[in-house]
Amino acid sequence: MVNAMHEWALAESIIMAVIDLAKRENAKEVVEIELLIGGLQTIDLEIFEFALNELKKETIAKNAKIRFVKQKPKFKCNVCGYEWIVDDLNKVLSEEEIESIHFIPELSHVFMKCPKCGSNDFDIVEGRGVLLKGVRIVK
Ligand SMILES: [Zn+2]
Repeated sequence: MVNAMHEWALAESIIMAVIDLAKRENAKEVVEIELLIGGLQTIDLEIFEFALNELKKETIAKNAKIRFVKQKPKFKCNVCGYEWIVDDLNKVLSEEEIESIHFIPELSHVFMKCPKCGSNDFDIVEGRGVLLKGVRIVK
């Protein structure tokens, strides 16, 4: 099954970044942490949220609300320059294909192609990572 190490490592780097930012801003408290979760990301959100909540204890962010915002995957064709966003991977790919892409995003090149010119030479511009989108603090 899924190895939870990844979720914990990610959560740790995010909480560290939040604390860092709060210190720089001389915050009294962190009230909200907003995270962007890429649509091609494989993390287990339940474990991730649990890890975040554990790690923020005893820190300036202990009372912070955590919000997840899903980010739709965005692609850019290297041949014609066309950019496209996939609203719902389920509509363009089979369940097995989505599963493979979640584990190895590079595989999207096998299953997808540019809707404009048909090339499978494209970049994944957005949707692969977890990003710290916003932090709300009280000074
Ligand atoms: Zn193209």
